[in-house]
Amino acid sequence: MAELVPQICGPVLLPGDPGFAEEVAGFNLAAVHRPDLVVGADDTGDVITAVQWAAAHDEPVGVQATGHGADLPMEGGLLLTTRRMQELVVDPVRRCARIGAGVRWGSVIDAIAPHGLGVLNGSSTHAGAVGYTLGGGLPVLGRVFGFAADWVRALEVVTPDGRLRAVDAEHEPELFALLLGGKGNLGIVTTMTLELFPLGPLLGGGIFWPGEDAQEVLAAFSRWAPGLPAAASTSVALRWMPRSAEVDPRVARRQVVHLRFCWVGDPEEGRRALEPMRSTGRPLLDTVAPLDYRRIDRVHLDATQPGLYVLTGEFLRDFDAAALAALLQHAGPGTQCPLPEVGIRLMGGALAGPGARDDAVTGRDAAFFLELIGRLSPGVAERTPPALAAILRALAPWSTGRAFVNLHGMPGGESERARAWSEEVYARLVRAKAVYDPQNLLRFQHVVGQVR
Ligand SMILES: Cc1cc2nc3c(=O)[nH]c(=O)nc-3n(C[C@H](O)[C@H](O)[C@H](O)COP(=O)(O)OP(=O)(O)OC[C@H]3O[C@@H](n4cnc5c(N)ncnc54)[C@H](O)[C@@H]3O)c2cc1C
Repeated sequence: MAELVPQICGPVLLPGDPGFAEEVAGFNLAAVHRPDLVVGADDTGDVITAVQWAAAHDEPVGVQATGHGADLPMEGGLLLTTRRMQELVVDPVRRCARIGAGVRWGSVIDAIAPHGLGVLNGSSTHAGAVGYTLGGGLPVLGRVFGFAADWVRALEVVTPDGRLRAVDAEHEPELFALLLGGKGNLGIVTTMTLELFPLGPLLGGGIFWPGEDAQEVLAAFSRWAPGLPAAASTSVALRWMPRSAEVDPRVARRQVVHLRFCWVGDPEEGRRALEPMRSTGRPLLDTVAPLDYRRIDRVHLDATQPGLYVLTGEFLRDFDAAALAALLQHAGPGTQCPLPEVGIRLMGGALAGPGARDDAVTGRDAAFFLELIGRLSPGVAERTPPALAAILRALAPWSTGRAFVNLHGMPGGESERARAWSEEVYARLVRAKAVYDPQNLLRFQHVVGQVR
């Protein structure tokens, strides 16, 4: 390892070195990585050098930007952290942005919003733009514009042989397609070029009801949501609200039903579309109003503090009265369900369209996405996995049979991991993995082909 240090611009740290624990830590504290060494990459050159060194020493490689997707702990190997790779170049005329591996969505939005342009960030702009997009990227505005992966023009990627490749729909198209939705299976992406789009006025926010109103509100949601035009993106969650600066005291520290709503276009039309939910039950709070794009996190109000989380889910073909009953039986008020959040996102609209090009994204055939968040902190850690499993089992009759790689928790064996893709895409991923990663260097997190 001594020979690596002078070749790398960023820090190279071993367990026990000052700064090692901070370097490997991320947003999700549930997975504590214990690599043999961590390389804090400053730039693409550092990534190439580290991967070449790892390949020569048969040292497996993991990658982490923010740790929002640190679902599985990494034991041994070389962890590449990309948080210093903050390149961000916006070209408002050509409507594209070049985004480094460590950039968070929040920085991208701050840079493009003044130009009236948009991207397809997820519910938390604290997540990394590259890691999220490689997992397909299920966005807040997905029903209008599709998956984040649909808007990628080009990637620069260091494959496990240590080569830097510039890939797009014309150059190495199979690798490009499988990186978009295939997540970290085939290489370490150093920069991503995204197409931006003009973004008109937004109406967005949430409506909150007491948790006891879950049956009435979720039933109304299941009737109302499927008829919405694509301009509306929405989800609903039964959740325990924390006390934090972002959360209104009227709903803090209690169980609520939280409807999230975002409308792109004429706000008056958006208000009309929302009316059936506004007149349902007795809302505690309604924050839906014209929304500054830079405040888009106000729609979902995701956790912003690191914690011991598990996020998982399943695509559903329907969310009818029987599915609602099954959900409430396991997660409704009074069930002692330990999960802080059990949600249903509406799919469809542009999410159902064909991708802009060939890719590895899953979920275009789904009507809804069941989204579950658990905590693995002391006190609930033992109750969380069985609660997640019970809800997934109860909703299995409505499942499309597919999971979403970005929100797939801690998938166990190969067959469970394979469910994050269609059979055809999974087979292509396994073939590509054997070609690009014959040493199986990229074996951490949600990777395929581990049964050899
Ligand atoms: C609060 C919260 C809200 C979320 N909301 C959404 C949402 O609305 N929609 C959605 O789709 N997802 C959502 N996610 C999931 C999120 O998209 C994934 O966790 C994603 O992996 C985050 O990327 P990251 O780089 O920040 O995470 P990291 O933990 O840093 O990386 C996770 C994985 O991404 C891959 N990866 C990261 N960087 C690279 C790279 N440069 N090259 C190759 N692979 C890389 C690797 O497999 C890595 O293990 C959410 C997660 C959280 C915690």
